[in-house]
Amino acid sequence: MGSHQEKPHALCIPAPAQGHINPMLKFAKILHSKGFLITFVNTEFNHQRLLRSRGPDALSGLPSFRFETIPDGLPLPQNLDATQEVSSLSKSVDETCLGPFKSLINKVNDSYSPVTCIVADMLMVFTLDAAREFNIPEILLWTSGAGSLLCYDQYPDLLETGLMPLKDSSFLTNGYLDTIYDCIPMMSGMRLKDVPPFIRMLYPGDEYMVHFLCSVLKRAKSASAIVFNTFHELEHDIMDTLSSKFPPCYGIGPLNLLENKIANESLASIKSNLWKEEPECVKWLDSKSPSSVIYVNFGSVTVMTSQQMVEFCWGLAKSNYPFLWIIRPDLVIGDTAVLPSDFLVDTKERGLLVSWCPQEQVLQHPSIGGFLTHSGWNSTIESISNGVPMLCWPFFADQQPNCWLSCNKWGVAMEIDSDVKCDEIRKLVIELMNGERGDAIRKNAIDWKNKAEEACAFPSGSSMVNLEKIIHLLQTSLP
Ligand code: UDP
Repeated sequence: MGSHQEKPHALCIPAPAQGHINPMLKFAKILHSKGFLITFVNTEFNHQRLLRSRGPDALSGLPSFRFETIPDGLPLPQNLDATQEVSSLSKSVDETCLGPFKSLINKVNDSYSPVTCIVADMLMVFTLDAAREFNIPEILLWTSGAGSLLCYDQYPDLLETGLMPLKDSSFLTNGYLDTIYDCIPMMSGMRLKDVPPFIRMLYPGDEYMVHFLCSVLKRAKSASAIVFNTFHELEHDIMDTLSSKFPPCYGIGPLNLLENKIANESLASIKSNLWKEEPECVKWLDSKSPSSVIYVNFGSVTVMTSQQMVEFCWGLAKSNYPFLWIIRPDLVIGDTAVLPSDFLVDTKERGLLVSWCPQEQVLQHPSIGGFLTHSGWNSTIESISNGVPMLCWPFFADQQPNCWLSCNKWGVAMEIDSDVKCDEIRKLVIELMNGERGDAIRKNAIDWKNKAEEACAFPSGSSMVNLEKIIHLLQTSLP
């Protein structure tokens, strides 16, 4: 305890998924560099996965940056590569984690240093009950962009107007989802297909997710502030609207840039990849010409049918561009991905397939010319902050609005039809890498990269200023 006691102590708790742990870890490292003690709380399952993928070094930081765990309430999966199903995990966490979390606060208070603030993922809203009980301030991290939060906020209206849920799955293909849904002034021109698709309520778990997300947004109103992994210049109009409905909202992103700028070197070995990285792919990129490679990655949750996989294969093969394609072991539904053997022969010289990569390093690499992505927010903001133009094939949750914003508002991407066909992929890859539209998109991407860098510049970049405000808030509310 000793000298620790004068320092503010943040208990940082991400939602238990890759796209949530990464930004929370970056934020925790940033707070640490500003003098905070950090206790970082993972679920037991993810803790096991991190130890497996990174070795014990991944989680042995400094005495002032520690790790703890709580159970997620689900039986521990046998397979450490299993992506946990989103709705059952959300339900289990929301219903079972408050008790273990409060016990953890007591333990940490007694054995280490009193917790002075909670920094929780916005999906971990049960933590607000603990904050109230222990009388400590809490801020929430929304790990996506501001636009998706505004879309989720539309769920009650969509239900009230009867536009959603869909009557049956024929509405996926009869053109209904192309209906313009113009209720968000800052996102005018959005179609029903661009709203986070849980609200279609076609799949098991969707109904729970709609109920859960509406309740998250309601309960989040009692937080002291909400921080976003976005930046003022990118989403200030949306953030202004959110600030009138929610606690004060601050853009402190891109967190990947801010982390590189201010996090403590001594924490560099602490990483958060749940899968084992294959870093050789970065060496392979060294052998390619500048802006020549298309990078393909669908993140940690997206799955596809084997037919869709085959369409991507031939689209990439026929584009004739070199590609780096990350194929997670569970990317294809109900199967291990089996790629057509003639595709493998055909692309042997110019395609590299690996199962997980250090994405930030890949996106920084000069040989990357474009990113075929599922539009997860981290991938989107990491791509924007490196000036890499995108092709978007959104799968679920916030990915649809992220895709719409990237294509229509920021002009940094082109959309792939959800019914993916190899010829469309071929044409879009060629257009992105070497077409007129691709050139315009690349130019916009570079403009946004410059703006992202300005936002993170010391001392007056917008994200830097917002970070100082958040730190002030967390320090002045010390008990
Ligand atoms: N990521 C990575 N290597 C991979 C795939 C993903 O490091 O091969 C990281 C990526 O940089 C990002 C996160 O995992 O930070 C994925 O988050 P995102 O929001 O893009 O998608 P999700 O996985 O949540 O769908």
